[in-house]
Amino acid sequence: MPQSKGYAATDSKTPLAPFSFSRREPGPTELVIDILFCGVCHSDLHMSRNEWGQAVYPMVPGHEIVGRVTAAGKDVKKFKAGDIAAVGVIVDSCRHCAPCNRGEEHFCAEGATLTYANKDRVDGSITMGGYSSNYVVDERFAHTVPSNLDLAAVAPLLCAGITTFSPLRHWNVGPGKKVGIIGLGGLGHMGLKFAHSFGAQTIQLTTSLKKKDDATKLGADDVILSTDDAQMKKHAGSFDFILDTASAPHAIEPYLNLLKQDGTMTLVGLPDKPPSVSIFSLISKRASVAGSMIGGMPETQEMLDYCGKNNITADVEVIPIQQINDAFERMLKQDVKYRFVIDMSSLK
Ligand code: NAP
Ligand code: ZN
Ligand code: ZN
Repeated sequence: MPQSKGYAATDSKTPLAPFSFSRREPGPTELVIDILFCGVCHSDLHMSRNEWGQAVYPMVPGHEIVGRVTAAGKDVKKFKAGDIAAVGVIVDSCRHCAPCNRGEEHFCAEGATLTYANKDRVDGSITMGGYSSNYVVDERFAHTVPSNLDLAAVAPLLCAGITTFSPLRHWNVGPGKKVGIIGLGGLGHMGLKFAHSFGAQTIQLTTSLKKKDDATKLGADDVILSTDDAQMKKHAGSFDFILDTASAPHAIEPYLNLLKQDGTMTLVGLPDKPPSVSIFSLISKRASVAGSMIGGMPETQEMLDYCGKNNITADVEVIPIQQINDAFERMLKQDVKYRFVIDMSSLK
């Protein structure tokens, strides 16, 4: 059985600490991946502190994984030992329901298996994530990585990338559309890059004035300080689409005021408290509030290939795993530029 070293949360209050465990033997269509880099998603923090009530301990977080294949089962077609492979938020699904057959495994009717703190469909154990030395996964849930991209900066694409790419595509963001991105963090900065790359007029909404110049460099046509009522008023009724990536509870009404008639605000951020919406602000312009969650396997590969062709990656601060607890604290202070990525060689 592959042995793994990692960092785990043992309860909702204690910092992550070194943890050793074993992974199951790979099956004929499975890979063993030696993890090189793993991104640090705000969901890892929500989960390890049990903010959504879904925690299972010990918990090894991490679902933005890039690594090298060290073993491939006899029926594996896409990869061979030595190849680079990437794994995101889900690692299995029923593989026969209508959403799975459409390649929307994240909407699996029987529930997809998450990369960590979830019941493994194969042996019933609890999945352990990418803050660790290796992973065992079916090739259907692993992606190839364009060879021109920096691997540390690719890791965040596996969650922050697909979670923003998918709704921007679904709601047809492109030329002629005015699009707002709420929150300049891991998800937000990828949303900004994609919306800009798709040709939309892209406006960054931030609560952090000091991020203004960075937002412009990352592709924003304009930046709105969302705590400044005058700036918000100036843009009232002008947006086609808004993507909300904020991680902390916040009022969404001020952002709904920014939408045009028939505009849509899509929530991807998952604060631990739900927002409240005045029905009047929706009916007065037939506005929609929607939600979106990661993406299926084909779309995740499409996103990676798009990034390869357009030279898009995350802006990352690479850290050794020993700094993970500091990274969590800095993330809470909105002090991330714009994704922490763990260099897994620091585990050795
Ligand atoms: P992050 O890097 O910590 O960024 C979150 C950003 O939200 C902050 O940088 C900040 O941006 C903004 N923010 C924080 N508090 C705010 C407030 N009160 N009002 C407005 N904006 C606020 O987090 P992340 O990794 O991007 O994740 C963002 C959220 O998405 C998390 O809740 C995460 O769990 C969720 N998520 C969802 C999915 C999905 O499939 N739907 C996938 C991945 C993550 P400014 O400083 O610019 O204001
Ligand atoms: Zn994530
Ligand atoms: Zn299914």
